[in-house]
Amino acid sequence: MAGQCCPGKPVAKRIRVGGQDVGIAELDAILRKAFEMKGVSDEGLKKVLLRELRIHNYVPPLAEKEYLKGLWDAFMRYREQHKAVEEDYHGIPREEIPWFPSINYELCSNCGKCCEFCHRGVYIFDDGPKVAKPSRCIVSCTGCMALCPDKAISFPSLVELREALRVLRAKYALKKQ
Ligand code: SF4
Ligand code: SF4
Repeated sequence: MAGQCCPGKPVAKRIRVGGQDVGIAELDAILRKAFEMKGVSDEGLKKVLLRELRIHNYVPPLAEKEYLKGLWDAFMRYREQHKAVEEDYHGIPREEIPWFPSINYELCSNCGKCCEFCHRGVYIFDDGPKVAKPSRCIVSCTGCMALCPDKAISFPSLVELREALRVLRAKYALKKQ
């Protein structure tokens, strides 16, 4: 079954499959991958989701449709939540938005996965991971946090982010779209 936990592996998040909660490895990274693909039809996004699901999880062939249905529902929730945040920050200088990873070096084992994973150049690896360009981090992305095997990466909560955006919108006299 998909997402069964192995010793030392991060605990999988869950989707509904055939009326049951099923753990899915790398769920956040799978959803993020599809979310970042702009201008792709829903059918195209479903193909991306299924492909990414299969990369990280075993999907029983006979249950594929049920898995895709559960994954699509999770994606719709993810998209609504993150779209709302994205709409909030247009017009605010990115440098002022407090959204970037923080590393707890007491937990970090220097595996370097975060540096390899982030295609935005937020990290450099110099005797360990360093957040070199925080403002290149995509607002509301948490991809590197989801894959860190030591749970050493953290972000503000979405509630904290939205409150910060509310204050910044007032500062720049921006109306919510
Ligand atoms: S993925 Fe986590 S453990 Fe690995 S280098 Fe990055 S912060 Fe450290
Ligand atoms: S959360 Fe930011 S730093 Fe992490 S993978 Fe996404 S863009 Fe890169």
